[in-house]
Amino acid sequence: MTNVTTYVETKTGKALAELSNQDIYYQLLNYTKDLVVDYPKNTGKRKVYYISAEFLIGKLLSNNLINLGIYQEVKDDLAKAGKSLSDIEGIEPEPSLGNGGLGRLAACFIDSMATLGINGEGVGLNYHCGLFKQVLTDNQQATEPNYWIEDQSWLVSTDVHYDVPFRDFTLRSTLQRMAVLGYGKSSKNYLNLFDIEGVNPHLIQEGISFDKTKIQENLTLFLYPDDSDKAGELLRIYQQYFMVSNAAQLLIDEALERGSNLHDLADYAYVQINDTHPSMVIPELIRLLTEKHGLDFTEAVTIVKNMVGYTNHTILAEALEKWPLAYLEEVVPHLVLIIKKLDDLIRGQYQDHQVQIIDQDDRVHMANMDIHFSTSVNGVAALHTEILKQSELKAFYELYPEKFNNKTNGITFRRWLEFANQDLAAYIKELIGDAYLTDASQLEKLLAFADDKGVQDRLASIKYQNKLNLKAFLQTHQGIELDEHSIIDTQIKRFHEYKRQQMNALYVIHKYLEIKAGKLPKRKITVLFGGKAAPAYTIAQDIIHLILCLSELINKDPDVSPHLNVFLVENYNVTVAEKLIPATDVSEQISLASKEASGTGNMKFMLNGALTLGTMDGANVEIAELAGAENIYTFGQDSDTIIKLYETAGYQPSDYYQDQLIQRAVDFIVSEELLALGNAERLNRLYQELMTKDWFMTLIDLKDYIATKEQVFADYEQEDLWQKKVIHNIAKAGFFSSDRTIAQYNDDIWHSR
Ligand SMILES: *Cc1c(COP(=O)(O)O)cnc(C)c1O
Repeated sequence: MTNVTTYVETKTGKALAELSNQDIYYQLLNYTKDLVVDYPKNTGKRKVYYISAEFLIGKLLSNNLINLGIYQEVKDDLAKAGKSLSDIEGIEPEPSLGNGGLGRLAACFIDSMATLGINGEGVGLNYHCGLFKQVLTDNQQATEPNYWIEDQSWLVSTDVHYDVPFRDFTLRSTLQRMAVLGYGKSSKNYLNLFDIEGVNPHLIQEGISFDKTKIQENLTLFLYPDDSDKAGELLRIYQQYFMVSNAAQLLIDEALERGSNLHDLADYAYVQINDTHPSMVIPELIRLLTEKHGLDFTEAVTIVKNMVGYTNHTILAEALEKWPLAYLEEVVPHLVLIIKKLDDLIRGQYQDHQVQIIDQDDRVHMANMDIHFSTSVNGVAALHTEILKQSELKAFYELYPEKFNNKTNGITFRRWLEFANQDLAAYIKELIGDAYLTDASQLEKLLAFADDKGVQDRLASIKYQNKLNLKAFLQTHQGIELDEHSIIDTQIKRFHEYKRQQMNALYVIHKYLEIKAGKLPKRKITVLFGGKAAPAYTIAQDIIHLILCLSELINKDPDVSPHLNVFLVENYNVTVAEKLIPATDVSEQISLASKEASGTGNMKFMLNGALTLGTMDGANVEIAELAGAENIYTFGQDSDTIIKLYETAGYQPSDYYQDQLIQRAVDFIVSEELLALGNAERLNRLYQELMTKDWFMTLIDLKDYIATKEQVFADYEQEDLWQKKVIHNIAKAGFFSSDRTIAQYNDDIWHSR
């Protein structure tokens, strides 16, 4: 294949220098697509189908160039023509086909499957609008639709179509594909995204609201349509069934093509169910095997059971899906027949009502169906899996101890280090070579430099340069003035009470009050927040409002702003994460212990040399074990204590409110200063919530949090000590490569060779 300069000249008759950045972006897109069109697909008798409602893939141009090994070459060729690859990257629309961690995990996993050469592909939906675009106005979050598909995109339309039957009509699908390239591999996998033909964007009314009843025109219009009413819930069932029926038909077709007689289907395919959204694939496979292919029901059940694994991502009971049987009847009555038969099977075997598929209120517990009809049930961090076994799914663990296993999450180092932090990646290569990109454990070689002053200084100057890069980005995108000399303390993730952004906000208030009283920090602190809140989640919107009001109050106060700044970065997504993480000093991972299944943001920060300030929750526990207790800052009550408090209803916010320091911080939410800037209804509601309910126990850990954070800032002033901790963190981050996670899935569950 020719280089990019020649390619562009042949295609356009023009030199690179004559083209606009927009034109060059399309040329690079097509260049990359053309390069890989003849790459062979990964083989392996048993093919893995990773079915997920979300694939938060982020921009693909640079990632693909890196995995093809031509990033530097293309960058240099563009530079010769006076063009900047990073400007061109800016033009690519981000496919935000996911909410947060779960979707980003799926994206890292397909990268790792391709890199390890596993015959494993993603299957999902081709949403025309990804997660909404967040706009901050009047100190509140507003939402806009987020289109990402242009005439030319990474999608390749195929002639694969299936008929998907619903009660009232049948919808014909089209399979759209993206190539998934492994790092340093000359083979590929696909991300398979199914779509309907008649998507109608004119159904969108105001913001992101739209006519939810016109299924034939809206099925793939939006990721996670609002489900606060019945029409929204029905639409989600339509989406889920459409996704899994297509996946099941594709899987069976591909197996037949490769020589399966269907009795041996489990030798040809394995389905990983990412959270409960794809659970209906179990009855759908059974339905197709029996009704379409003539297998006996009992045999079909056995086959399917041997080719399915379920990944649990949450212990928040409200997040486990339970569909009313009546809703399923309205959408997919043919599937309800199968679900009822499966329910009968379980009822015949077990009396315990906790393990039944259909409960007394006629709701279908999707996770319960998954656990019964699968070979594997996994949690996503060691602590999370233990909690599943010992409390949340205890009844199931007693039935099937052999099914339960842990697969601690991971992230792809190609995107989160090699691409996002190019200076650090280059320096690591200088020190230990580039083998760490495919063997992440090699990073441990950095430990030899932990006390090396020269290395410490270089790391500090790379961090400083990354702060300057972030400053430029925030200036152009949001008019934010970041102080590159301040310590940067970042909390970026979906807004949720269990993640406790409100606790961080209370710290900010505490610090503001101290500064107003004349107690100044040694160094300026910049607190960065980023994240979206579900439109129907009122308290999360209130927390965003509080942070935006604090930001206005503090940044405009000449007494305070030289010592403290607070910003909420707009529209947090993968692209924003790639800018924020390399510039951060302190990684905020402060969820209430036992509530964050794993977290993956914590891993990205660790790899990029930020120190964790966190509770002993999710994968923070493993970060602490690996990096060593002296290289991470932990605080707060542990998960056993919290679980007991829930069991005994033993937490009262008023017990903690007695404390002067806590009282002052909480009261400030409804102070004159804030009420003058903000919306009284929102601030009062949040205040009342914290005073009377505080379901996620913000106040229980607040004092310890404040004290530990002061220690973090004090340690930051001891530069050698700090950088030594940084080196330990980077060196021990190898465990969190998604290559390790995927190798474990394959060795323990999938057995794809
Ligand atoms: C990594 C990532 C997440 C997950 O962050 P957590 O802190 O683990 O919740 C969410 N959104 C984006 C865009 C990410 O890149």
